[in-house]
Amino acid sequence: MSIKNLVRKNILRLTPYSSARSEFKGSAHVFLDANENPFDTGYNRYPAPLQWKVKDKIAKLKGIAREKIFLGNGSDEVIDLLLRIFCEPKEDHILILPPTYGMYRVSADIADVEVREVQLGARFQPEVEAILQAANAHSKLLFLCSPNNPTGNSFSPEAIGRLAAGFPGVTVVDEAYIDFSAQPSSLTLLDQYPRLVVMQTFSKAWGLAGIRLGMAFASEEVIELFNKVKPPYNVNQLTQEAVLKALDDYQQQQQWVQSILGQRTLLAQYLSGLDFVERIHPSDANFLLVKVAEPRRIYDFLVERGIIVRDRSRVSLCEGCLRITVGTPEENEQLFRALVEF
Ligand SMILES: *Cc1c(COP(=O)(O)O)cnc(C)c1O
Repeated sequence: MSIKNLVRKNILRLTPYSSARSEFKGSAHVFLDANENPFDTGYNRYPAPLQWKVKDKIAKLKGIAREKIFLGNGSDEVIDLLLRIFCEPKEDHILILPPTYGMYRVSADIADVEVREVQLGARFQPEVEAILQAANAHSKLLFLCSPNNPTGNSFSPEAIGRLAAGFPGVTVVDEAYIDFSAQPSSLTLLDQYPRLVVMQTFSKAWGLAGIRLGMAFASEEVIELFNKVKPPYNVNQLTQEAVLKALDDYQQQQQWVQSILGQRTLLAQYLSGLDFVERIHPSDANFLLVKVAEPRRIYDFLVERGIIVRDRSRVSLCEGCLRITVGTPEENEQLFRALVEF
């Protein structure tokens, strides 16, 4: 299936909004083209619409051509654009593998696109045969969250490869937690599968959830579609400046990741010594999914002490589970003390 055959007809026909800054090619020093305020506030100009400075740094870090990168207002915008590019409301559907990240369904519900589910199987791995059987010509997007939220595990590279090869629509691998994972990124599969999209984010390992910046990596053809549909100035200047600064200090990001991984091991050790902890699921992310005897009572007990975790105990296949983010050493110590008290 070629990409063109998967795209909604109105998107193929679309003439995108042409902004003053994207029309002008060359160099100038007098900008009277965009009705901006001419007095310099540091932010009186519209931001770079295609964020090439940021993309150049990401391209270098990831070893990928800058034309294969899209930047969005968080991964949330990437998910929303994917739905609007590929899914005809009331006709097409997406496939998700619960238990998984909630945004795929919310975005699809907003777009009036049906969601079909194939539950994860043993050890929270995708049921490859069942997924491929469930797919047809209206299955436009398959969301693979690896490492998966809220289960914490990575999907096997073998399963991801078979799905990317066999799924007739666009396979999206959401790698929000990839920096914490022992498994390699699916970025290396991009050249092999033109219908593959890999999403990453600055919200987790990079410590920049507040600036809202998500990345999508894909073939140039898919990236061109994103650029066609996105709002012209979707990544604001403050965000571009903040991420340029962060990208200059990759070492800092790696130090945080090492600290969080060490704390994850320690937290798992602590928790395994508590008699009401029934199971700690293996994690490739910056959180632990923990099965406990009385999830709601523990949740409330922690809240009373000012500590919030995520109650996932009513989510199918996560019965009895709390999802606990790995904090700083001090925060993890506080959590542990509270749990001992419980
Ligand atoms: C946290 C998270 C994201 C990040 O979303 P942003 O909009 O980039 O903050 C994406 N996917 C999953 C599965 C997540 O858990």
